[in-house]
Amino acid sequence: MSAIIENTDVVVIGGGPGGSTTATLLARRGHRVVLLEKETFPRYQIGESLLPSTVHGIGRLLGVTEELEAASFMVKRGGSFRWGTNPVPWNFLFAVAPELSGPTSYAYQVERMKFDDILLKNAAKHGVDVRENSPVTEVIGDDERVRGVRYTGPDGVRHEIHATFVVDASGNRSRVHQNVRGERIYSDFFKNIALFGYFEGGKRLPQPDSGNILCAAFDEGWIWYIPLSDTLTSVGAVISREHAAKLQGDQEQALLGFVDRCAIVKDFLADATRVTEGTYGEIRTRKDYSYTNSTFHRPGMVLVGDAACFIDPVFSTGVHLATYAGLLAARSINTVLAGENTEERVFEEFEGRYRREYRVFYEFLSAFYDMQSNEESYFWKARKVTNFNATDLEAFVSLVGGVHSGEQAFTSADQLVSEFRTSSGDLADAVQRTGAMDTDTGDKMHHLFGTPVVREVMQEMNNVQVRGVLGEAARELPLLENGLVPSADGLAWTEAK
Ligand code: FAD
Repeated sequence: MSAIIENTDVVVIGGGPGGSTTATLLARRGHRVVLLEKETFPRYQIGESLLPSTVHGIGRLLGVTEELEAASFMVKRGGSFRWGTNPVPWNFLFAVAPELSGPTSYAYQVERMKFDDILLKNAAKHGVDVRENSPVTEVIGDDERVRGVRYTGPDGVRHEIHATFVVDASGNRSRVHQNVRGERIYSDFFKNIALFGYFEGGKRLPQPDSGNILCAAFDEGWIWYIPLSDTLTSVGAVISREHAAKLQGDQEQALLGFVDRCAIVKDFLADATRVTEGTYGEIRTRKDYSYTNSTFHRPGMVLVGDAACFIDPVFSTGVHLATYAGLLAARSINTVLAGENTEERVFEEFEGRYRREYRVFYEFLSAFYDMQSNEESYFWKARKVTNFNATDLEAFVSLVGGVHSGEQAFTSADQLVSEFRTSSGDLADAVQRTGAMDTDTGDKMHHLFGTPVVREVMQEMNNVQVRGVLGEAARELPLLENGLVPSADGLAWTEAK
């Protein structure tokens, strides 16, 4: 049977946060976009703890903020860490200080089935032609460029779509990314395995931190404890790949064994029961998730989200990187389709910004692992950082600036940006004021969060948030040398004046 052949402007592969974001921001410029998703939504996904820039920055550009608010997700004011040598958890808050808590100084803990479904339906509302139960089987191209895809429709019929651009947002486990002809390079540092399940009735941190993610280190790794509702908790152990043998037998026993060796989580789950039925009844494992592709683009095709790179679950960066990349990819494609710049130039901007964001987080997370020193433990000894690069670490403050940014958001962009610059020096104090911390960890946190912020690294996440809140009002400087700047509506690139 011959395939049904169609033409469109852009095909997006995958309906996760990366794909939905890209597709919506392309459709907002009036382009014809077909999004192909292999599953039928809502579908399960891990990655439940979000950052404020996704909720308030990207969320507003997508026009989905009110819907997210109405979904009653657990409000996350920050993270609580049993990390370092002090047994008492300390907090990092998105607001510099509790009294400054404002309209964008929080994120959500989300059931991804609900969150991803909201984003995908929102894409359809914006005119994206969303086709679920439609796995892409092949990318069509020649030496010059990628030219489309083949997929199988829900009725088993083969389809072929020709497009000017193909966006691969098909996540961690698909092989579509190989069509950009790069190599997937796995991290030597984050060679971990995650084992996770769900519990009913676990304890909560005291108010106002009850919605925080709790990350607690133990000898063999660390455990995330994410409150998804008043009673449902996502619990996952991240351990070294060298301990993979421990996961061979009964996975429930393995997870409960890790919980047993992590005092605070053991206490929090003392009266809880593991969910054993439905979507959350399964114990799942994930490995080989820390990597970056050697290239994110080739003519006609671009990688977004986990298709391109992911680092590690600690600090909730996955959905942020996926949605940020979706914004960058949409700007690039919108610019080319409008005939306003060359593909080479806009994707240089895309890849430069995306890699910068990835690298900053990579360095920060490496240093964050380094703070948990336990010379007796194989896991933590193997993760001592030897080439600590303080300059790279400074860049992390930009993220924090971005997320505690909302206080002045409804006044003026200039005032908002200047607030970011002047207040960022107080971030270290915010970390220490809001929780107990031993001196060694305190010093390192102070170094991580308290270094005076260079203008350049403050810009980007702030810009995403300011733009989300103020729309066209934000003025941006190039982030990269000789780089481009966002257009007035934030949906394309223009040359810097
Ligand atoms: P996905 O969400 O994976 O979406 C890809 C979509 O593509 C899927 O719906 C899939 O069905 C579809 N697809 C695949 N192949 C095809 C095909 N051939 N044709 C059509 N469709 C296809 N991130 C956070 O922000 N916070 C966290 O707390 C967090 N915790 C994590 C814990 C673990 C253990 C791991 C491994 C990751 C975690 N992450 C976290 C990362 C997060 O899961 C991902 O970064 C995020 O889901 C990436 O979004 P995406 O849109 O790129 O891909």
